[in-house]
Amino acid sequence: MKNSQNPGTVGTTSTTNENCVFCKIVRGEIPAHKIYEDENYLAFLDINPRSPGHAQIIPKTHYRYVWDVPNAGEYFEVAQKIAKAQQKTSGTDAIWSRIMGDEVPHAHIWVFPNPDLALGDKKDFAVNAEKIKSALCRTP
Ligand SMILES: [Zn+2]
Repeated sequence: MKNSQNPGTVGTTSTTNENCVFCKIVRGEIPAHKIYEDENYLAFLDINPRSPGHAQIIPKTHYRYVWDVPNAGEYFEVAQKIAKAQQKTSGTDAIWSRIMGDEVPHAHIWVFPNPDLALGDKKDFAVNAEKIKSALCRTP
């Protein structure tokens, strides 16, 4: 269903918003360093990282706030997977998270290593994405 006039309100399949930046990433219209993807969720590196591997975890369906996402437990399990992978790749167990909702009007969870402790170059997106992806593969 492509009706962008009524985004995020119908059904359980992916419904995206035509003008939303994160929906554009979901549809592949804007490039992003994706680190995780399943049927309902997508994680990619933040374009203005606070630390190496700083990720955003979003539902593929356009919801305004994290609190609007059905199956919130499943959503947070994805955030946990990413945080566990960051623990293996950033040199610290101190993974921070933040939920605001003012930057982009599409639900997103920030997950990023403590900027004072994380190893690596936060602007080296390709390397950081590969590290996290391979750590995710090693996670049972
Ligand atoms: Zn959106």
